[in-house]
Amino acid sequence: MDFFPVFMRLKDRSCLVVGGGPVALRKVSLLRKAHARVTVVSPALCPELAALKARDAIEHLPRGFEDADVDARVLVIAATDDEDLNRHVSELCTERCIPVNVVDQPELCGFITPSMIDRSPIQVAVSTGGSSPVLARLLRSRIESFIPAAYGRLAALVEGYRLKVKARIPDTELRRRFWERLLEGPVTELFMSGREDAARETLEKALETGLDTRDAGGEVFLVGAGPGDPDLLTFRALRLMQLADVVVYDNLVSPAIIELVRRDAEMIYAGKKRNLHTLPQEEINQLLVRLAKEGKRVLRLKGGDPFIFGRGGEEIDTLMQEGIPFQVVPGITAAAGCASFSGIPLTHRDYAQAVVFATGHLRDGSIDLNWKMLAQPRQTVVFYMGLLGLPIICRELMAHGVSPDMPMALVEQGTTQNQRVIVGTLATMPDLVKDYDVQPPTLIIVGEVVKLHERLKWFQPGTDHTVKSLFSSQGQVVEARSSTEGAEA
Ligand code: SAH
Repeated sequence: MDFFPVFMRLKDRSCLVVGGGPVALRKVSLLRKAHARVTVVSPALCPELAALKARDAIEHLPRGFEDADVDARVLVIAATDDEDLNRHVSELCTERCIPVNVVDQPELCGFITPSMIDRSPIQVAVSTGGSSPVLARLLRSRIESFIPAAYGRLAALVEGYRLKVKARIPDTELRRRFWERLLEGPVTELFMSGREDAARETLEKALETGLDTRDAGGEVFLVGAGPGDPDLLTFRALRLMQLADVVVYDNLVSPAIIELVRRDAEMIYAGKKRNLHTLPQEEINQLLVRLAKEGKRVLRLKGGDPFIFGRGGEEIDTLMQEGIPFQVVPGITAAAGCASFSGIPLTHRDYAQAVVFATGHLRDGSIDLNWKMLAQPRQTVVFYMGLLGLPIICRELMAHGVSPDMPMALVEQGTTQNQRVIVGTLATMPDLVKDYDVQPPTLIIVGEVVKLHERLKWFQPGTDHTVKSLFSSQGQVVEARSSTEGAEA
């Protein structure tokens, strides 16, 4: 983070704006929205500022800037077209630890103002760290369009009940669920449809009757997080990620996705690296059971799809036996993600009428697969976990009759900004990969369809390869998550 986001209380506090033109006016208007006491120092004022002065809405110092003007201000904004003066104001404030903003000169700013969505008391602030105000505004307009205007009033209603609910339900956890249940359901529905009284009644009633017993029990969400790019999550996955009390994730889940999990959720790393299973599967199964029995909503977050080489079946089997409620959310599996993002359709009228997903995982140095079936013509074979076994895969397929010229692709860190696609044949690939410093995870695609890559490749990941792996060692993720906010209950 280049800038740390905060929301400042400015009510009745003294703020200074240097400059009296239209740009200063914009800043003054913003500060006034936050009920700040605004002083403007400038030899002249634009008509709108003059009008504000006439109404005593601002204080005006009708002269040039003097150093002492910044004294005792909680915030200073320089909005003149005199760059030297702006710089001077910035330096003065920096020396005195007064937050300072210089309009359109990010390098002189101690703070910058975000693009705002004002649904008071709800505020959404969007910042690009000064790199592109236009992008921030575009993003803002998109967010605007899906936060109903009534949200602000809803928040005000909730605010009115906050203390009452706190007294009635002292337990933080139960209280949060109480609010979630009401706000996800009836109260919001009623409120948004314009029936504010009914919404209020529902709230009152819920307070009286307390919580129903459903709230005491935990549950498990077995969620597929897709192949890496957070944009490829499902809406449901995202919603449950925001609801979870505790998250059990493995190393295929990229830090960018972990970032989207509710801030104060407890994070448990369950590992899963080649031969280095941090927690044995049986322990993971039991962990999920134990957490759910503690009454928690447990998010079991897995790379790709939980039911494709994800052992999701075993996990819910245990839950089923223990009678713990759960739901399974599919994710985009690596084969689908990598195929799309490398321009290799897995089926094609001319080349492949079937596709097989197989595991290339080595057991005792060999791969136990039905090679005869995999060697059939007119099909595509996708190998998960096949990097180590790559030479064996190529050898066995050729031994079972597949041409040494059969095209083959290795997709590295598919769908992410680090994606690379290495194309070769069964004969050449084992040596070819040695020329690359290949980073897991990788997926292998074998079949005529690989030929299409050259023509259909469309995804151009960033050229910045400084981040070697977007996927986590445990350390990276813990670091990415080291800041936790307190629960706003
Ligand atoms: N449940 C997951 C697969 C888990 S097995 C899914 O449905 O995708 C782990 C294997 O998935 C890795 O060894 C690799 O072969 C593949 N994989 C997962 N994400 C990948 C990615 N972004 N790029 C390439 N391969 C990936």
